[in-house]
Amino acid sequence: MVSIRSKVINSIKKDGSVMVKVTPHKHCIVCGKAVEPEEVFCSEECKQKYESARKRQWIPFVIFFVLMIILIAYSFMAV
Ligand SMILES: [Zn+2]
Repeated sequence: MVSIRSKVINSIKKDGSVMVKVTPHKHCIVCGKAVEPEEVFCSEECKQKYESARKRQWIPFVIFFVLMIILIAYSFMAV
């Protein structure tokens, strides 16, 4: 709350005129460039980067899951 208020004050110049408002925008979740509010990526390249990164995120989970199954199966076999 306090930081928002101080930002508003900072955007007002000493002569009382308000500086140009920052147009509503978002930032590309890959590279951080400003994009349109309805956009998530600045370019097709960033979209593909994100998609491939998201796909790769699954790999450690799959490995972990497979290892758990192997461990559980092994513990059952050992009994
Ligand atoms: Zn980008």
